[in-house]
Amino acid sequence: MRLDRALTLAVVSPLRSASQRTAAAPAPVLMYHSVSEDPETGVAPYYRLATPPALFEEHLQILKSRGFVGVDLATLMSRPTPSGGGRPVVITFDDGFRDFHTHAWPLLQRHGFTATMFLPTAFIHESRQAFKDRECMTWPEIRDLNRAGITFGSHTVNHPKLATLPEAELRTELVVSRQTIERELSRPIDTFAHPYAFPEADRDYVRRYRRCVTEAGYRYAVTTTIGRTATSDAPDLIKRLPVNGADDAAFFSAKLEGHYDWMGRVQSALRRVKRLLQPARR
Ligand SMILES: [Zn+2]
Repeated sequence: MRLDRALTLAVVSPLRSASQRTAAAPAPVLMYHSVSEDPETGVAPYYRLATPPALFEEHLQILKSRGFVGVDLATLMSRPTPSGGGRPVVITFDDGFRDFHTHAWPLLQRHGFTATMFLPTAFIHESRQAFKDRECMTWPEIRDLNRAGITFGSHTVNHPKLATLPEAELRTELVVSRQTIERELSRPIDTFAHPYAFPEADRDYVRRYRRCVTEAGYRYAVTTTIGRTATSDAPDLIKRLPVNGADDAAFFSAKLEGHYDWMGRVQSALRRVKRLLQPARR
């Protein structure tokens, strides 16, 4: 039994009315990783990275049927309604896996959606490299996708736990990854994705991180904090909705309509409590 799914579908969804939809309503920024058949045996549903291609296509069909139009983060944060109407959705992918090129991109094209991909640049080369035991895209593939309209952002150089790094190393991860992508794609990069669970309860870190993100030249940064995003939200602490192969049509649709946002509030409260209970450090 998966508690977050059961509560979302059995309790929150029936309480929330679809009439709350307006053009200015918070928008979903979806977080995918891999589009593949990997069964990820032994991994709890919440932590899985893979979404099977057939289910990913179903997600795109659901988005279309509910009137969503794919945009990038700059468009989302500057304009609540995409030109031509429709509800904005940002489809993001972390980690630069090869199956974005082979599996996700053809489906995105077929259904008329764009996407944003965040790259950990140490694992992206002219020749094939791997990260987390999965093959990554190469720069030639990324350049093709960039020309075809996919937006690229940074996901650091080495995908470290940023909160554990001295500030100089944190800056290097932010700056060098941006410079590398800009050099390879010959265009400015202003979007960043924080690796691993965002330590939102660590106020000192969050302050340091936000300063470094701005100074490194980013305008938009996404986190793993769960929820939909309003245009009034801080552009460097953008919430996302995690999506994987455990999101069947009902759960995915509920997330789009904000019925999973409660999970973000519960996680934030738990992290704050956990931090209060930790012994004082240094
Ligand atoms: Zn990642």
